[in-house]
Amino acid sequence: MWVSYTNDQNGQNHFNIKTKVFENCLSLHKFFIMTKTNIRVRFAPSPTGPLHMGGVRTALYNYLFARKNNGTFILRIEDTDQKRFVRGAENYIVESLNWCGIEPDEGVSAGGSYGPYRQSERKEYYVKYVKDLLESGDAYYAFDTSEELDKLRKEGEKIGQIFTYNAQIRDSLNNSIRLSPDRVKEKTDAGEPYVIRYKVKPGEILKLHDLIRGDIEVDTTTLDDKILFKSDGMPTYHLANIVDDHLMEISHVIRGEEWLPSLPLHILLYRSLKWNPPQFAHMPLTLKPDGKGKLSKRDGDRLGFPVFPLEWKNPETGEISSGYRETGYFPEAFVNILAFLGWNPGTEQEIFSMEELIESFSLDRVVKAGSRFDPEKARWFNQQYLRMKSDVELAGLFLPYLKNEGVEADKELVVKVCGLVRERVSFVKELWDQSWFFFKAPEEYDQKVVKKRWKEKTPVIMNELIKLLESQDDFSSENCEQAVKDWTEKKQLGLGQVLSPFRLAVVGGSFGPHLFDIIAVLGKEETLKRLEKAIKVLSAE
Ligand code: GLU
Repeated sequence: MWVSYTNDQNGQNHFNIKTKVFENCLSLHKFFIMTKTNIRVRFAPSPTGPLHMGGVRTALYNYLFARKNNGTFILRIEDTDQKRFVRGAENYIVESLNWCGIEPDEGVSAGGSYGPYRQSERKEYYVKYVKDLLESGDAYYAFDTSEELDKLRKEGEKIGQIFTYNAQIRDSLNNSIRLSPDRVKEKTDAGEPYVIRYKVKPGEILKLHDLIRGDIEVDTTTLDDKILFKSDGMPTYHLANIVDDHLMEISHVIRGEEWLPSLPLHILLYRSLKWNPPQFAHMPLTLKPDGKGKLSKRDGDRLGFPVFPLEWKNPETGEISSGYRETGYFPEAFVNILAFLGWNPGTEQEIFSMEELIESFSLDRVVKAGSRFDPEKARWFNQQYLRMKSDVELAGLFLPYLKNEGVEADKELVVKVCGLVRERVSFVKELWDQSWFFFKAPEEYDQKVVKKRWKEKTPVIMNELIKLLESQDDFSSENCEQAVKDWTEKKQLGLGQVLSPFRLAVVGGSFGPHLFDIIAVLGKEETLKRLEKAIKVLSAE
């Protein structure tokens, strides 16, 4: 046997093993599955509220990429912005991923050797590296107060200019570039509030590469001196994010397009700290159904569908936003929907299990353009997953809903009912509307149908029908149907003349599955009872 080891341009390790015994052997496949590569990706949400479905998609793509490449998927919580911190949001994120089956290998709840995985617990690292940047001159203290900056902003507005804290102006502002080192020391010693900014060197054309968008060029003159450290002693997203990506040995940063404008600064920071940057892939935006604008958290239930994976109760206002889970989506369907929001396999196949997604996923099939969310298609996906369930599985899922309606039904009956109405629903909760008449007799009759279908002669016909059904020893759907058909022919009655009032008596309207299938499940006694009641009630009207 020989084993060789290669590293491809994605930084991915390949073990090549050959023996006669192993060739074409399944255990080789297993070996690949078990061997972790140095592909490490992270999902790094900020706990500023419930996770939006676009956020879950980011997590999913990272997860698929990690699994496909036998890499590691990390969940890191980016909670440096204390002003925007929302109670319960971290738990919500963990629970959402859990519901979707997106399982982190390392992270806040999974643990791991690169922790802590919550940025608020990693302050010492950020302090260390911001010091390095100050020492090398790539960062500087800025003492400008928010009032001073506001004033400059307003003055700029008056002459039609946007105030930018950058190389053109920083020499004239209240910072350690302009002030003497002694003066800076005085100020910091006196506890004067400051921020630390990155010092962008203008005039360079930065060449960036994105795995989805290709090569990008940015002139550093257009960049501003972003804040790395805030006056509250916490790092900003930019600093914490790149420090952690480096220390956690992240190989690929896969995140939303909204972070693309931050890429030049991140690349500059890597360079200043003399670190190799990871590879980047910025995913397309998820758009509203009409394609106009990003699907945002604020859309809530406004558009008639949830934007959150799980129901969310705002801890401040108590306001509830609906979730896919509570709406009745299967997690497998939700994952499938998200996978197709920006990726496609290049084939006709639309239904993908998580395993199949892992198998087929690749970043080169992620599209550049924003992906419109189609709520109708989402329903369709759920329906497909519902159809994959057996009648027994569906019955198990339906039982709690029946209980809720006060129905204690025999499981065998529920299984039969599910078999009859399953094609008519997209969600388990819709089963009740399609099948309640199996569990209780109608209490009223649709008056429109009564008017149209219950004629003067109908009670006589229904009474004869009762006699005919009474005499059937075999109350199966096929036998009853044949008997009724033969009888209507003999009596020269139109089928509609019989079947419409018959259905009205059984379900109270003109809906439901095949009538003879319904009565076969109800049984002779219940069917006759309903016919008798309809004759009584409707003839009296
Ligand atoms: N904390 C950022 C967010 O909330 C993470 C962005 C990134 O992945 O770099 O989306």
